[in-house]
Amino acid sequence: MSVSLPLVPGDETRTANPRPGILDGPPDFLRAWLIERGQPPMRVNQIRRHVLARGVVAFDQMSDLPRELRTELANHFAVFTTRVERHLVAADQTHKLILRLQDNRMIECVLIQDEGRATACISTQVGCGMGCVFCASGINGVVRNLTTGELVEQLVRLRNLVGRSAAAPEELSAAEVGHQPVAVGRLTHIVVMGMGEPLANLDHLLAALVLAGDKNGLGIGARHVTISTVGLPAKIRRLADLGKQYHLAVSLHAPNDPLRTRIVPTNEKTGIAAILEAADYFFKKTGRQVTYEYVVLGGLNDQPVHAHELARLLAGRKAHVNLIPWNEVDGLPYRRPLDTDLQGFITTLRRHGISVKVRKRKGSEIDAACGQLRRQVEAEPLVVPD
Ligand code: SAH
Repeated sequence: MSVSLPLVPGDETRTANPRPGILDGPPDFLRAWLIERGQPPMRVNQIRRHVLARGVVAFDQMSDLPRELRTELANHFAVFTTRVERHLVAADQTHKLILRLQDNRMIECVLIQDEGRATACISTQVGCGMGCVFCASGINGVVRNLTTGELVEQLVRLRNLVGRSAAAPEELSAAEVGHQPVAVGRLTHIVVMGMGEPLANLDHLLAALVLAGDKNGLGIGARHVTISTVGLPAKIRRLADLGKQYHLAVSLHAPNDPLRTRIVPTNEKTGIAAILEAADYFFKKTGRQVTYEYVVLGGLNDQPVHAHELARLLAGRKAHVNLIPWNEVDGLPYRRPLDTDLQGFITTLRRHGISVKVRKRKGSEIDAACGQLRRQVEAEPLVVPD
């Protein structure tokens, strides 16, 4: 069962009159704007804290700001530049949001709640330029990078849903429409595994993660953030050199170059060896074990020969393998692995001393494979709000 919640009114965004987002751009811009109006610069943090730490969704709710300032802020800025186009909740309390951006593009983000964890899965681009053959996000290529504000908004919107159940949609809209800040739950983890290639939008992502990590922000430390990449070696090294404790996941998907190039076309230029070298460098610099993601495509990369080759490739590395049975994407000619093949694959890797897990499928009834729901919604006629 899945419940589609009514659209949430009260959003600050009006596509016809786009205003800059309060979470976007350098804080200097907002600071200068405030100083021009005779306001102390500390208001920047005050305003951002309202949104990031307290779940405030309208300037009017910022009760410690002078009333005229609240009005003026609302005339010049938007608390959120994104609008909730669709909100789906699965029986296991996985929430999926389709957000409409100011340019009418759409992205997806997901909240996964499990064993005391609340994990936000966020997108970094509209579409994706990597072209992995099994993936819905890249079917129409990449349109643009998301801004820092658009990245942070995904986190804030998902955090504002933590602990909320589908059974109480009125509560949600009452809180957003009315002027009561919502009592916010806590997001504990971030996985950058939505649409797009995070390392192709690294500057904005890092800026967003700094805001996310701030104790006056969302308070999510680097160790609780996983960045998943198709494998861009120069960017992996740059990430390593930051000295931050982010967790790196590399989408490997095949144990040799010819097969990987078939599945991940960018591999033709990069090659597995350069990616593994960069990942080893990341491990050396940060001390954090790298995860290798492996989408399991029935009959294509899940046979014993592949498992043995993968075991040889990763031998001697302190690495972890995350197997992801393929989620069907309409119109793509792949299939999920047979249970026996998947089990055989796991056994072979374990026999070679490789740590391996199969990714649990959460919110499967609303899942429709990452990036797919956005495609469906985009195909619907466009209704632009006034
Ligand atoms: N561009 C990044 C993030 C992609 S999404 C990357 O390549 O890592 C995170 C993971 O989900 C990637 O490993 C990606 O290959 C995988 N994925 C994408 N579509 C999928 C599908 N339909 N089924 C299973 N895994 C999928």
